[in-house]
Amino acid sequence: MTNNLKQEILRSIAITGPMPISQYMHLCNAHPQLGYYSTGNPVGKDGDFITAPEVSQMFGELIGLWGLQAWHTLNCPDPVQIVELGPGRGTMINDIIRSIKTSQKFSDATEIRLVETSPSMKSEQQLKLAEHSISIQWVENIEELPPIPAIFIANEFLDAIPFRQFVKTIDGWRELCVGLNGDNQPENNQLAFVVGSSGLEENLLPPGHENEPIGAIFEHAPAREAISILIAQHINTQGGAALIIDYGHEISGFGDTFQAVQSHQPISTLTNPGHCDLTCHVDFQAISDVAIQNGLKAGSILTQQDFLLAMGLLERAGRLGHDKSASVQQKIQQDVHRLVADDQMGKLFKVLCLTQSEYPMPLFDHHTVGIRNLS
Ligand code: SAH
Repeated sequence: MTNNLKQEILRSIAITGPMPISQYMHLCNAHPQLGYYSTGNPVGKDGDFITAPEVSQMFGELIGLWGLQAWHTLNCPDPVQIVELGPGRGTMINDIIRSIKTSQKFSDATEIRLVETSPSMKSEQQLKLAEHSISIQWVENIEELPPIPAIFIANEFLDAIPFRQFVKTIDGWRELCVGLNGDNQPENNQLAFVVGSSGLEENLLPPGHENEPIGAIFEHAPAREAISILIAQHINTQGGAALIIDYGHEISGFGDTFQAVQSHQPISTLTNPGHCDLTCHVDFQAISDVAIQNGLKAGSILTQQDFLLAMGLLERAGRLGHDKSASVQQKIQQDVHRLVADDQMGKLFKVLCLTQSEYPMPLFDHHTVGIRNLS
């Protein structure tokens, strides 16, 4: 089958030269007609990848209880908005809305806003959320949010935001680009990584870069840092907190984590543009540092395992399975395993909590978050 987006990218590179990975990724994910999030079926069992909210309702419920905890530490602002960035199929916000109903006051004060750029994902979210009476609105970017306090939540959102790669060469760090590998016959051209001419300012590299070997890769994601700045600006001026969950590393470092997934299988990042999920690991230290430089307080970066267990995942699982059939109980156990086991999502996924500098960090403690009130 002809891949029209690939043809378009090949043509564009033949005319204007290699493009940075960030531009390639932006075209692949967000091209208005041919991009992955405009045309594909990314998330879920019948999609390309499964995210934690799609594994189990317990994930979104515990995030909702964290939101309640955050609201209390912020002195219960009314009105307040829960803002989800990149809500996918709307599953997590659906579970959050159910779980915040455990507090009538919080639920009455809350407006929901979803930041989504893809019209097709937005339609799916609208269908899923149609039954809720709570006010739900969609915006395309953080700057469109109304000036009221915000509790931001983002799961597997930042990994989908474009990033740049730099490779160490004998002439210093140079940007890796997507170019052509062919014999100048247009029909033979294929996409290939090529070393571009742009460099990187040394102060953007993590410590120890001098000791990295030739060929080492550094991933830099200014577009993700810009999102961290927008979150910080909103929280500084209007109040609020944020919870960011994704796969990634606590400490900035080196290595190639650019990946493509199609139908739950890894494929080459250049093979099928627009038809697979292109991501790279999130550098949580960079996101946290930028938030702190912009006036927020940041918690230590936790693993998803530590976060969910502290939030009461096991208690919630026990309660959910109570009085249920053996097969339902077994399914709940499998879901817990998937969410927190070392070799599943437990260690690779990290959690970063940000808040307004004058308030304490919301606690991750199931004794205080009202887990018993979930039905
Ligand atoms: N959070 C969801 C889905 C993650 S997939 C889950 O955990 O299941 C990434 C989501 O981010 C999709 O909904 C995609 O359309 C959206 N998205 C991608 N780039 C975006 C951008 N720049 N702004 C807003 N949403 C974006």
